[in-house]
Amino acid sequence: MQNRIYVNYGSDPKAMAYELMAEADIGALVSPDMRIALKPNLVVAKPASSGATTHSELLAGVIEYLFERGCKKIEIIEGAWVGASTQAAFRAAGYEALSKTYGVPLFDTKRDQTSSRSYAGLAIDVCNKALNADFLINLPVLKAHCQTTLTCALKNLKGCISDAQKRRFHALGLHKPIAVLNKLLKQHLIIVDALNGDLSFEEGGTPVEMGRALLCDDPVLVDSYACELMGVSIDEVEYMPLSAQYGVGRLKNAATEIVELNADRKPKANPSLTRGAQALARYAQQDQACSACYGSLIHALHRLDARKLKSLPPLYIGQGFRGKSGRGLGIGRCASGFSEHVGGCPPTAQAILDKLTGLL
Ligand code: SF4
Repeated sequence: MQNRIYVNYGSDPKAMAYELMAEADIGALVSPDMRIALKPNLVVAKPASSGATTHSELLAGVIEYLFERGCKKIEIIEGAWVGASTQAAFRAAGYEALSKTYGVPLFDTKRDQTSSRSYAGLAIDVCNKALNADFLINLPVLKAHCQTTLTCALKNLKGCISDAQKRRFHALGLHKPIAVLNKLLKQHLIIVDALNGDLSFEEGGTPVEMGRALLCDDPVLVDSYACELMGVSIDEVEYMPLSAQYGVGRLKNAATEIVELNADRKPKANPSLTRGAQALARYAQQDQACSACYGSLIHALHRLDARKLKSLPPLYIGQGFRGKSGRGLGIGRCASGFSEHVGGCPPTAQAILDKLTGLL
């Protein structure tokens, strides 16, 4: 795939996953004899609408694509966070129904045998089911994390270790163990659920619509792009540069190619925001904004120093501002007529944050 990230817009996770795999020609990488493991993020027993867990429909798209290529040895593997029931998480997020529909088994990694692997002076017991997969597809949610700021592909592999190892990871400060785990356990493909990940907490409760899914074969590359989407500096997420240093993958750079699918299918922003997002949204005037654009703005405002919020210039976002002008900051290509402007369709949260920081 060579330094490339695919981005697909929409609100139908099943179609979005299927289209991404078709566009990237994943069929050329798999064969019917392969044991394929799908690893979603089911950290807690909550539906995907909470912003905490991977949409089961995203996996439905992956499974249908793989079935059509003769791949039948598929399992869904996951272990909820320490003390939580993986079975309850499977149920709450619709994975029991998914398993029945497609005849694809669910496997709780908390009950797995493990094998010890070590790198950079750290030994980690990794679940055999993940280690023995011929093709591991990681399906994380792009969302915030209270300890590591952001969680996406690299951190999602934490579901492939036991509860005892998870406790140990926290005692070791998370960053080095996450980078080492990714060195020890190869993920072959990443499909990121960036439909409505949480604004501030991995447990969900403040979902922000971003209206897209991403595909990449490099967890460092896709995570560094995820940082831009959420307005997070790569240096804030220590395990990211560390993973690059360990040779897990490469950070996004000027040569990274972003391939967009269905750019004209961006869903409109949902006016019914959660309270936390609403408190930020009131700083902007929106008129027919796409969720991809509006989500970027909410994330950027969330990352901005709270003391600066009161000094913001008038903000305008949405297709309703096409051709309009005036004093203020236009967000995205549609609002390019204002005295200040952030380009992009949609702009990233990082681009909006950089512009705001420069103005304030
Ligand atoms: S710039 Fe306009 S068309 Fe593009 S994402 Fe934003 S609101 Fe939608």
